[in-house]
Amino acid sequence: MKANESVDVAIIGSGMGGATFAAGLAPSGARIVILERGERLIDRPETRDARAIFQRGVFRPKEMWYEPGGDAFNPGNYYYVGGATKLYGAVLIRYRAQDFRPIQYAEGATPGWPFDYDEMEPWYSRVEALYRVRGQLGEDPTEPKHSNPYVFPPVPDEPAIADVRERLKRAGMHPFSLPLGVDIDRWLNRAKTPWDAFPDTNAGKMDAETCGLASALAHDNVTLETSARVIKLETDAAGKRITAVVYEKNGETFRIAPSLVVLAAGAVNSALLLLASANGAMPNGLANCADQVGRHFMNHNSSAALAIHPLRRNGSIYQKTIGCNDFYLDDGRGGPPLGNVQLLGKISGAILKSQLRWSPEIALDLLANRAVDFYFMSEDLPSPESRVWLDGSRVVLDWRASNMAAQNGLIARMREVLRAVGFPIVLVKPFDRRTPSHQCGTIRMGADPAKAAVDPDCRSYDHENLFVVDASVLPTSAAVNPALTVAALALRAADYVRGSELGQPRSAN
Ligand SMILES: Cc1cc2nc3c(=O)[nH]c(=O)nc-3n(C[C@H](O)[C@H](O)[C@H](O)COP(=O)(O)OP(=O)(O)OC[C@H]3O[C@@H](n4cnc5c(N)ncnc54)[C@H](O)[C@@H]3O)c2cc1C
Repeated sequence: MKANESVDVAIIGSGMGGATFAAGLAPSGARIVILERGERLIDRPETRDARAIFQRGVFRPKEMWYEPGGDAFNPGNYYYVGGATKLYGAVLIRYRAQDFRPIQYAEGATPGWPFDYDEMEPWYSRVEALYRVRGQLGEDPTEPKHSNPYVFPPVPDEPAIADVRERLKRAGMHPFSLPLGVDIDRWLNRAKTPWDAFPDTNAGKMDAETCGLASALAHDNVTLETSARVIKLETDAAGKRITAVVYEKNGETFRIAPSLVVLAAGAVNSALLLLASANGAMPNGLANCADQVGRHFMNHNSSAALAIHPLRRNGSIYQKTIGCNDFYLDDGRGGPPLGNVQLLGKISGAILKSQLRWSPEIALDLLANRAVDFYFMSEDLPSPESRVWLDGSRVVLDWRASNMAAQNGLIARMREVLRAVGFPIVLVKPFDRRTPSHQCGTIRMGADPAKAAVDPDCRSYDHENLFVVDASVLPTSAAVNPALTVAALALRAADYVRGSELGQPRSAN
């Protein structure tokens, strides 16, 4: 085992949480190393080839995860510099103010957060600037208070989508411009494809590599080590401090001893790393005195819907520019909340064929060309029984999807709406465990050390020099995309670390 030169801070993972934390801490001058298991995504023809991406899965990991019953599946969990954001849909939306408080659904309730929306607002504002988010305030009645407007105008609707927006408005809905981290001219300049689930090779997506990490690496005190897979954290004899980070790179094992460790390997892998690091002082795994690590796995209950008019073509390339929160706070008829609706990236025959292998692609193209493609997303409620753990070297995921009444209700309401606005056929297919895109909750944050693994500043209750800043700390999944909230929490935690080092109170400004 080799020892590396000394560093002050080791950040594990360069995705949304890790890269944004690094950007926040970099100006402090602390010597920071970011250990990233993956490599940079290099441009090649497959990065814009729907058949390569969806049918052949060339960017998916080679690994398998397992259900408790033993069935194996290949998860869409991505290991690149920039993490899952390299393939994300770049919807950078804030949790609604109500999401920070307990919410009562038909089949259960959320616990709320240890602080409210106003506490998060300044960091939302700063990460929107870091990720150059484009949007338009004033269109969505559920939009929480913003201290700053979006600096850039929204990505424009394509003609077919502008038509859908008008139809929805005429039906009394409130379609809004999705807040997006996309420079559409640059994206289309590389190739005329959607961006949602297509890998970014620095071609116009604002992701963890192109924004957070680029900002961090502009500082000489920050280094990135790629193909560096962390396999274990070590503690002192009492189990109170993390004393070393052990990682493998090119077949060699390295050991570094930073004074601060920041875990951001994604909700599944961060939890597994803590569990795999169990030792004599911490036999149930690190940060796990409250037995919370790996529990409360959430992933959104979501479906893809193809809204079809047989005689109307959708000539869109990217499509993904509008959302609706009309059923976010209630079902529109005084019943419990249902969730968020947004467009998917444009679905093509090549994408559909990845699900319908025996259908000719030409027939699927005919279908796809007449469809507008929606994504229906409902909150997944935190349950201690919904878990990820290691069985030897096997990753076992026992996702207990919850709150299906909300998802089913959202599908039913949207079928009504879409038929009313001119789509007589609505085909719906749920996403399942092979798509853990919005994974979160496995190292939950909370004010009570008996019920949470990290405190409201993302510091481990059990180890004073360990912070967790990825999606695993989210105490609730809400029903909107998670990345902006992950980034805001990470930047807030970085400010906390800087403030505590400098002996000053934390400030978002
Ligand atoms: C196809 C797709 C579309 C999505 N669309 C959206 C969207 O439109 N809007 C949105 O808000 N969210 C979206 N998401 C989700 C979003 O990308 C995630 O919520 C976000 O990236 C989570 O950040 P994270 O820091 O928790 O994890 P990641 O961003 O995944 O970062 C984790 C990093 O840790 C690295 N790592 C893992 N294990 C180790 C280890 N042992 N050692 C070292 N490094 C390690 C990984 O390689 C990765 O780089 C999407 C995700 C996918 C897959």
